[in-house]
Amino acid sequence: MPPSAPLPALRPTGLEPAVEALAADPGLRVLAGGSELMVLANAGRLRPSGFLLIDRIPELRGVWFTEQEIIVGAATTCADLVHADVRAVLPALAQAARSIGSAALRTRATVGGNLASGKRPGGGPAALPGRDLLTALIALGAVAVCHSMAGWRQIQVAELYARDGGVRLEPGELITAVRLPAGTGQQGFMKIGTRGGPGRPVLTLALVVDPATRQVACALGGHGPVAARVDHAGVWLADHVDWDAGAIPDPSTYQTFARLVAEGLLAPMTAGPAGASTSRVSDEYRRQAAEVCARRALVRALPPSGWLEQVKQYQIKAEMMRARSALERAERGLPSAPPVPAAGRTA
Ligand SMILES: Cc1cc2nc3c(=O)[nH]c(=O)nc-3n(C[C@H](O)[C@H](O)[C@H](O)COP(=O)(O)OP(=O)(O)OC[C@H]3O[C@@H](n4cnc5c(N)ncnc54)[C@H](O)[C@@H]3O)c2cc1C
Repeated sequence: MPPSAPLPALRPTGLEPAVEALAADPGLRVLAGGSELMVLANAGRLRPSGFLLIDRIPELRGVWFTEQEIIVGAATTCADLVHADVRAVLPALAQAARSIGSAALRTRATVGGNLASGKRPGGGPAALPGRDLLTALIALGAVAVCHSMAGWRQIQVAELYARDGGVRLEPGELITAVRLPAGTGQQGFMKIGTRGGPGRPVLTLALVVDPATRQVACALGGHGPVAARVDHAGVWLADHVDWDAGAIPDPSTYQTFARLVAEGLLAPMTAGPAGASTSRVSDEYRRQAAEVCARRALVRALPPSGWLEQVKQYQIKAEMMRARSALERAERGLPSAPPVPAAGRTA
């Protein structure tokens, strides 16, 4: 086939035909929003045997809110995630989505595409910056749901990447959704770049507070091939919060937490080589950026006192979303079941 010939495109309307097509032709490439894939294909850096478009598979798009978890379909766009409903219960993910590219790009770029963007293990460098959602998803404890003719596979998002940052999808596998535990408290996401507007991040940070279990999770990304949790900072912080009073009694907590988060830049799995996906700045600049982001995110999520009311508000909003979302899906004729294995669905 001459290089300029148009490539065949399949556009299934159901999940099973999609995975059958992927199994039948291992050279097919999943095309979601195309915001990364088409750039690579047009530049001649990728020559698949054809494209499998997933934008007509209704069960892949949308957000399902249940008592125990929130499920985000893989073809849900960043623009969908910025919607007020999602912002109310998954503010860290909504803020991460809002930070991606331009408004026009966000109407195309999907959750699955963001997770699967970049190189495959052992492959060449990624052409574009990507995976800003990853930092929020890892802090939120997300699980990726993958489907192929071999069945379903569920894997912690943090485990989906090889050491060099390549995404570990099995042949013929489609990411169908990410599952997130239903949160109970405040969250935040921050991104620092070397200029305004779209660009490579110096650093991304996500903070997720769970007052019900009295746990704090923090993740750093954008500084290396894969985002990662900074568990030692979260564990330390949880012991310095007065959960009953809704306060942080010692003002030095903010600075110490920020310093511990910045130490996460040195963790073996996340330290360089930064590769093509990050801004090239000095280590000291990035360390300071991490401290500033961590301190600000914590002040916003847990000010020195008076945040118990915020926790109640969060829970009321989550309850409302659950009650409303199933009804709205039914009214719009959208699939009621999320794209996850039936046995693992929660009511
Ligand atoms: C100008 C510009 C600015 C950008 N800025 C940012 C930014 O600020 N932050 C950021 O994170 N990214 C950015 N990107 C990168 C890109 O837009 C995002 O990573 C986006 O989320 C990719 O999603 P998509 O749906 O367009 O993926 P596609 O381009 O359709 O696919 C990307 C890769 O994922 C695979 N894939 C897609 N969906 C699935 C699935 N469900 N299962 C298995 N594999 C799948 C594809 O086969 C392909 O390999 C930018 C891109 C451009 C062009």
